[in-house]
Amino acid sequence: MFIDSKNILLDSDPILRKKAVSVCVPLSAEDREVLEAMLEYVRNSQDEKFCEEYNVRPSVGIAAPQIGVSKKMIAVSIKGEDEQVIEFALANPKIIANSTKKTYLENGESCLSVATDVEGIVLRHQRITVRAYNMLTDKVEEIKLKGYPAVVMQHEIDHLKGILYYDHIDRIDPLYKPADAISI
Ligand code: ZN
Repeated sequence: MFIDSKNILLDSDPILRKKAVSVCVPLSAEDREVLEAMLEYVRNSQDEKFCEEYNVRPSVGIAAPQIGVSKKMIAVSIKGEDEQVIEFALANPKIIANSTKKTYLENGESCLSVATDVEGIVLRHQRITVRAYNMLTDKVEEIKLKGYPAVVMQHEIDHLKGILYYDHIDRIDPLYKPADAISI
């Protein structure tokens, strides 16, 4: 399986508004193939040449509904400043704990399924604990994240609930943020 920009659904597609279903773990061969291809897509999308060749936008995460598979699977690949790579290929992720403190990306969020960025502040929990089956370790894990990786994870998990980032933007005051929210 190979994913490129032609496989990515846009937000006009009703699949992106559906609740995704849980998958059996360990993953079936079919689900594993999809999740592996998703992770490969995200890794590839951080390569300039690949993006040019396949008309792909750079990304740090993808959720299965974005390629038309309404199942609870997400892939994330984030390069840290020190070349450290944070990667997850998760099935059935669930946020089991979160901080009340909020954070947000100063320049707003963007999404492969949203053609034109919507301006506004998307408030996220600054810290989360996610319970999920991680294909990369073949284990059910509790993953603690904070800051940017936590924001990315919340964005991707939202896709499994049919939620898009702009749903979180305040309609009356799109740039609203609490005084103690942390900007990234
Ligand atoms: Zn997205």
